[in-house]
Amino acid sequence: MIETTPGALDRLRQIGAYALDMDGTTYLGGRLLPGAGAFVGLMLAQGIPFTFLTNNSSKSRAEYGRKLTALGLPCGEERVMTSGEATIRYLLRERPGQRVYLAATPSFEAEVREAGIVLADGRADADLAVLGYDTTLTFERLVTLCDLVRDGKALVATHPDVNCPVEGGYWPDVGAFLALIERSTGRGADLVVGKPGPLMVTALCERMGLPAADIAYVGDRLYTDVAMARRSGMLAVLVLSGETTLADLDGTPEPPDLVVGGLDELAGLVSAARKAGGATGSAS
Ligand SMILES: [Mg+2]
Repeated sequence: MIETTPGALDRLRQIGAYALDMDGTTYLGGRLLPGAGAFVGLMLAQGIPFTFLTNNSSKSRAEYGRKLTALGLPCGEERVMTSGEATIRYLLRERPGQRVYLAATPSFEAEVREAGIVLADGRADADLAVLGYDTTLTFERLVTLCDLVRDGKALVATHPDVNCPVEGGYWPDVGAFLALIERSTGRGADLVVGKPGPLMVTALCERMGLPAADIAYVGDRLYTDVAMARRSGMLAVLVLSGETTLADLDGTPEPPDLVVGGLDELAGLVSAARKAGGATGSAS
């Protein structure tokens, strides 16, 4: 464990809730990372609130819940927040009643409809356009998105990731689609919701009913996970089980508050802190 911000370990001892990145933090592809089961078990045993967070809006919360369950974690969709959910919360709050032209997978579209958002059929009746991670994207949809941007309608994207790591390589992600739209129209997204943006934290705090300062955010990427946590005032915990190595920390402009090897080490720290906290409480 490395304490980068003085007092970070003390703050971890006081922290009341956790938000966790999934790929690279909780699992790697189809394999649970060491300590993920123990960490979740500790959260449940101690009654500590926790939520999993992902930028991927191609799958629904229910699909992620099933994935976590299949990996052996007793966590359903109620434990998952996607950039898609954060986008839905934004639309309901900031753009009530507006008709949305949506480019998205059927599962995200179903979540948007269930939330009561009215979908537009096309260019003629849309008030704004929303681009999710549409792995079912067609040329026709791409043309409509570009038409709407040229018409001056707002374009909201669920997240900024340029590539999505998959087995054997990468798939182009929303950021790459946005680059295409910008190249064609001269204008990119007006708003990007997911990590490291603040709207993801707004949605998380709304869902958990807690201020950002009461939440520790655990993730494996400096430029999304750690950046978001630091900018929002969450305690930023970096795990080295994903894409970041210790060498990457050299000269990074936004270092994490704490660095741990993975959830196994973090579970040990939280468990020890809870025991110490209990002992102090009974002695005083
Ligand atoms: Mg990750």
